[in-house]
Amino acid sequence: MHQFDAETADLLRAVFDVTRLRLGFDPVPLDGPASPAELTARAGPTITPEGIGGRRALEIFDEVLARACISADHPRNLAFIPAAPTRAAVLFDLVVGASSIYGGSWMEGAGAIHAENEALRWLADLAGLPAEAGGVFVPGGTVGNLSALAAARHAARERLAAAGSPQPSRWRFVCGEEAHSSLYQAASVLDVDLVAVPSGVDGRLTGSRLAAALDAMAEAAPPRTGPPVGGGCGGNAFADGVFAVVATAGTTQFGIVDDLRGIVEVARGRGLWVHADGAYGLAALAAPSARPLFDGIAEVDSFIVDPHKWLFSPFDACALVYRDPAVARAAHSPQRAGYLDVLDSAANWNPSDYAIGLSRRARGLPFWFSLATHGTHAYANAVETTLATARSAAEQIAARPDLELVRPPQLSVVVFRRRGWDEVDYHRWSGSLLRAGFAFVPPTRHDGETVARFAIVNPRTTPGDIEAILTTMS
Ligand SMILES: *Cc1c(COP(=O)(O)O)cnc(C)c1O
Repeated sequence: MHQFDAETADLLRAVFDVTRLRLGFDPVPLDGPASPAELTARAGPTITPEGIGGRRALEIFDEVLARACISADHPRNLAFIPAAPTRAAVLFDLVVGASSIYGGSWMEGAGAIHAENEALRWLADLAGLPAEAGGVFVPGGTVGNLSALAAARHAARERLAAAGSPQPSRWRFVCGEEAHSSLYQAASVLDVDLVAVPSGVDGRLTGSRLAAALDAMAEAAPPRTGPPVGGGCGGNAFADGVFAVVATAGTTQFGIVDDLRGIVEVARGRGLWVHADGAYGLAALAAPSARPLFDGIAEVDSFIVDPHKWLFSPFDACALVYRDPAVARAAHSPQRAGYLDVLDSAANWNPSDYAIGLSRRARGLPFWFSLATHGTHAYANAVETTLATARSAAEQIAARPDLELVRPPQLSVVVFRRRGWDEVDYHRWSGSLLRAGFAFVPPTRHDGETVARFAIVNPRTTPGDIEAILTTMS
């Protein structure tokens, strides 16, 4: 073992001290943003020709920079989708960083990839996908959705090409109106059209709404003259350019789950790929009380779920799982170069073959370590705890005369209005809670109205926290 020099030994201690302090807070300080000018003034110059030394840089991080970052894991941070990584996951993230693992190819990262695949397997089993299912941990739901849709379009193109049929002039995929913005980005990057199907007052894309939209598009499409296309679709397959349907398994705004069963039945009859965007919501597959909401998930062609959202892992990790990984590999292994050939000859599981990107951190490992440490029952219990807190929030809101639910919650997002408040009132309220270091609950907009929203993914958030926040609204 080599001896650390004094400076490194000192830095090692200091880094562990900061880690110990951060993990020991109960609760952690909420902190809040600062302007570039304030940060420049407080931090001073940090990039210099000689370096300021690790001690000093760590001090600046700890005393200035980290304090200008809102703690995503504060129990009263209910903004957007916050985070609540377990201590085991956070600590193991340090180990992953120290291990210099290249997670893109089996040849280089076999052990890490084996562990990541075990964690993916748990998720695939929760969804009920077959034994061949598999995938990769990507940085987030945005890359996960894009990668799945790229695979879906590739599969459609290949089927037409194999049948000798012409390609449609324009490809498109269908999703519900309340689907996530990352799908619009995916459409833009893939240069395809996104068709948003009206999802009704309940916010759900249903089988019948989907069928009506697909029928209308098929009717408007030119008849196809080529030979029939295999794979369970009729002779006019893809004539309207539709290659996939995205079902949202827990909208970000409301936590509402689309009618997965209805969607897969309609899509299957037409040979369409079904991708489930469960970046936030599919974590609730771990909770027995929520499972009936996801009926039909076992039939999808691909799904994503972000462990960094509601599965107690640090940023950034999205699990992307395919029913038939070979199809995804065909779409995603065009990164070919002479120097990479040696990796393919191993004929092994190369995570980079299943998504956009080549070099990768083994970012599924903190999630794997936490699952291995605590066991899957602890995950079920933790998700149930957050669901119970969300139900309590809904009850408390219903019981307060000045508050009103916008929609009854299905998962752990609760959206509600304060009677008599306008946009300015919500922002003033939310800003003062953040400045006080008490809570982070930015308002959102629904149907042109500013409303309040809680996203509860932290098992340390209690009904008492909810009550304390609601009391500040009266
Ligand atoms: C958060 C979210 C995404 C995007 O995921 P990132 O990890 O932020 O890239 C996509 N879809 C849904 C439903 C989400 O909630």
